[in-house]
Amino acid sequence: MNTNMTIRCATCEQEIDCRIGYSNRRIQPLTFSCPHCGSSLSITLDISDAPRSQFSFDGCAPSETRASGPFQGHNPFIDLHLDFPVRFWKYEMGKTPWLMAMEDLRVALGADMESAHEIFQLHNLKLNALNELYEKAGELKRLINLYHGNNKQLFQRRASSFLEEPEEKSLLPQDVNASLYRVIAKAFFPFTVSSAGREISEMMPRFLYQLDKDRLGEFIDELDDSSFLAVLQRDCLKIYPRIFDAELPLRPALFLDLTGNGTSTKIATRISTHDFLGVKDLYKDIVEILGRQLVLVAGLNNLGHRGDANSFKVIDGGVLSDLKKFSAKTLSDKFKYLDDCWYLWDDNAFNLGLRNALAHNNVHYDGVAQLITYCPGGGRLETSEGETISLLEFMRLLLVAFREMHNLHHVIKSLFYYKYLIHDIRGGRNSV
Ligand SMILES: [Zn+2]
Repeated sequence: MNTNMTIRCATCEQEIDCRIGYSNRRIQPLTFSCPHCGSSLSITLDISDAPRSQFSFDGCAPSETRASGPFQGHNPFIDLHLDFPVRFWKYEMGKTPWLMAMEDLRVALGADMESAHEIFQLHNLKLNALNELYEKAGELKRLINLYHGNNKQLFQRRASSFLEEPEEKSLLPQDVNASLYRVIAKAFFPFTVSSAGREISEMMPRFLYQLDKDRLGEFIDELDDSSFLAVLQRDCLKIYPRIFDAELPLRPALFLDLTGNGTSTKIATRISTHDFLGVKDLYKDIVEILGRQLVLVAGLNNLGHRGDANSFKVIDGGVLSDLKKFSAKTLSDKFKYLDDCWYLWDDNAFNLGLRNALAHNNVHYDGVAQLITYCPGGGRLETSEGETISLLEFMRLLLVAFREMHNLHHVIKSLFYYKYLIHDIRGGRNSV
């Protein structure tokens, strides 16, 4: 379903033609920049009383002068839809955001419309789950925070309630962790690729078993005594609720799972809720965590190749003395020391130039064009030439980086299980 309306910007008092495609989300906040003056405008569609639709406006109002019938082309035109990338182009009757998304999918698959519809149903499953889960985002945030509190019993009770299962009474760390990871799996499945997580979870025990038990034990003790593993897990857990805060602009990025990562699509299309300022730090923070997760990858890699977590391969005639030295390296340097690595990371998660620019606040966002311009060199005078990516590309980057963090979180989970179930019992440590 679609609604056509002409709105008047409250700031510049000029008009914009909008075609609003309906998502199944109960509340659909659509935000965009006025094409005349750049002011941020919002139209919120509420379908709580469907088939009635209610609109509310911020920074704009419905035009009183609009004639009925198709748009005449006098005003700039904007397509809006929460769930898909949309084009800002000339109005054409019938070429709705949904239909154009199906067409993109059909072309990407090289298939007919019927097959495109079938594949689309997979995406729809995730969207429908999101439509239910976003209503529980507050409950989820509180539940994840409870995990770090002292009342594990309360955490278990709330986790069982969220999972809609009988209450798990055990307060053993492995059982509390099991609840936590089941909550995460259920709550975040629309954002993740579950097969990747499953693969890592299944591979990790096999990988750990083939390592020297004493040396692996020393590595785990080191991670435990320094609280590195616990702090890293806590920081990963802080990211998950923030993904729900970014749920709206992530929806079109999820659609690209179906159509692929084609750059042209990403540049030509836009997001109907442009909240770059609200999500820009999230990417920086995820990449920071990825940098620390690589310390685990490196330690295990060293154990596998050289039988010692602190033993690195000689690179360019030099060698790192230990993991502490590795952890102080920049992210781009860290990759050099992961020789013939057991873990295959996704290069698409890393845009280190953008990450640096975000850290130094050398980023400019043009809301009308939905373009992010950044200086990878940190904004020095000689590198004032900026690089540009679209907001949709950025959201895709954020999604892929989150998935990488989530996958590496499975490594953290596996190390905890190894510690609780094997190492602590073997070494006589009391883990409760
Ligand atoms: Zn305006």
